[in-house]
Amino acid sequence: MHKIFSIIFAGLLATTTMSAQNVLVPENKQARPMNQVMDEVAQRFGVKFKYNIDTTGVVINYAPSRIRPYSIEETLNNILAPHDFKAWDQGRNIWKIKPYEYHRRYDADGRKMVDYLNSLYSNKEEWTPRRDALRREVRERLGIDSLLVRCVPLKPILGKARKMDGYTVQNIALELLPGYYVCGSVYAPANSVARKQVAQKGKYPVVICPNGHWTNGRYNGDLQKRYATLARMGAICISYDIFGWGESRLQVGKDAHATSIAHVWQALCGVRLLDYALTRKDVDATRVASNGGSGGGTHAALLAAIDDRFTACCPVVSVCSHFDGGCPCESGMPIQYSQGGTCNIEILATFAPKPVMLVGDEGDWTHTYPEIEIPYLKRIYSFYGADDQLQTVWLPKQRHDFNQDKRQAVYDFFASVWNLPKENLDESRVTIEEEAALQSFGSIDKMPAGAQRNIKALIEQNFDKEMRQTYFELRWAAGLEEKARKWSDSLHLDDAAKTERVRKLIETHLKRVTKWHNDHVGECPAGINPRTGERLREVDRQIICDAAQPKSYHTDLMDGLRKELTEEQVITILDQYTIGKVAFTMKGYKEIVPDMTALEDSVCRAYLCEAREMAIDYKSMKEISEIFAIYKDKCEEYFNKHGRNWHDMYKAYYNKRKKKH
Ligand code: ZN
Repeated sequence: MHKIFSIIFAGLLATTTMSAQNVLVPENKQARPMNQVMDEVAQRFGVKFKYNIDTTGVVINYAPSRIRPYSIEETLNNILAPHDFKAWDQGRNIWKIKPYEYHRRYDADGRKMVDYLNSLYSNKEEWTPRRDALRREVRERLGIDSLLVRCVPLKPILGKARKMDGYTVQNIALELLPGYYVCGSVYAPANSVARKQVAQKGKYPVVICPNGHWTNGRYNGDLQKRYATLARMGAICISYDIFGWGESRLQVGKDAHATSIAHVWQALCGVRLLDYALTRKDVDATRVASNGGSGGGTHAALLAAIDDRFTACCPVVSVCSHFDGGCPCESGMPIQYSQGGTCNIEILATFAPKPVMLVGDEGDWTHTYPEIEIPYLKRIYSFYGADDQLQTVWLPKQRHDFNQDKRQAVYDFFASVWNLPKENLDESRVTIEEEAALQSFGSIDKMPAGAQRNIKALIEQNFDKEMRQTYFELRWAAGLEEKARKWSDSLHLDDAAKTERVRKLIETHLKRVTKWHNDHVGECPAGINPRTGERLREVDRQIICDAAQPKSYHTDLMDGLRKELTEEQVITILDQYTIGKVAFTMKGYKEIVPDMTALEDSVCRAYLCEAREMAIDYKSMKEISEIFAIYKDKCEEYFNKHGRNWHDMYKAYYNKRKKKH
């Protein structure tokens, strides 16, 4: 036994010695504050930085070794990457420092990606297996199949068709998973020109229109113009709410939108609305398209990639090689990792050789279309000798929108693919309807029996553990939103916009503080309080963790409130955070010190006000009480140092109270 032990011990010793010889341990980490390092970089390269991040307290280890005198890009990457920050060249020697975004890369990365993809295939034979595998894996990674099997049978709830000039609009609500609806509107042709020229045996083409994050969602006037004009030209268009917007918000709340659920849910909406469309007598199953702008464009391409029934696709200002879509509804599920790594333009390419129209502009991430994405797609279409099936419109000097020029590109595309009559292209004949007119229910109470009132059942029954965690986060977010609304309403400002700004300030602050707290629970190690020599209590340790939050959480709120409100109103808000502890404690002091002088009153009040402003940055009432306790000690110390005896005063007060009861 003893021998075996010695051998093991000797072995351990040998390993330790060897590794000690191989590792070079520097005497220090040459650690420097990030602000200082960045100032030096700015000076060295003659540039300015704008920050979207909080650099307070960030330390750069081995700072000098990160500098590359010949390259600002490499220097910034070396400094920022370990902290998940990233630098973006804004031109004119200005760089923006932002948090790392999983969905956004540099233009040059798009170039590299497309070069890499091009190296994988040079003809149809090499491309086809990857294409097929991509379509399969994107669908798998999206997770739509496990939801499709749970969908309830199609029971569309259709509103009354409203007759317009050359088209009709009819609202639709479709239950997808038990108790959860997608709501939208169906725009259908109703004129003789379309009937004669477009309908085949009474059947029209159909366009599924997923939506982006445009103001007012699918109710946006520009979008209504597009749906209705296409309908006047002979194509049935179906618009629908994105997850957590419009009538979906009634069921799942608006925060639900910024989750990965939105990604798969919105694709599910598109697929199921197509299922519904194909049950209609007036829909031609051989002429099916997807069309949308921005996030709607991302989904138009996604639908085309996962569902073989689509025969034409028109994504506007969206799909590209270096941007996956900046919202979890576009990029939340890990579809970009399919086949070892892909990007949206390759996902769209899997639709070739079917007709595609790609619309981009100079003023957003599609500014690389002429150099990167269009040549890439052309190459794929050339594998099929189908160059004429790819149409592109790229608009210089335009920005990210769905303006008339872009809508014109959409009309031209569908006119060319389906022979739609251009004579019916007249947006001035479209009626822009109010949001309420386009809704099936308008409020949760008007939804069918069994309609769910929150996202809980959806997640518990259909999503895995990780998603369930998301739900709990949503629930606390909703709780904080409600709190922020109540507090800002309590000011009774007669300016709705101001109330909203105040609400937003409070909501942001509450969410930041709560998130920081939740992310750092129990991170502070056990230890002793150096003043008392006692072990740190759990609440002390939590306060230490929470106190490390960025200072901007506090200053953003306070500066914002003071800009919007009078000091008295600011205090009202702070009292809400601290449930009126200042007044309550002062009342107690007045009872304990009945002959309190004006000076004593003002000293105590000042201490407690300081406590109040500090306490708002702590999540739990326990922590808030502890912060007040620190300042109460100061008040009591003040009494003691100025001719009073707190202990005696308190004892007298206590005995008096005891007698009373
Ligand atoms: Zn979104």
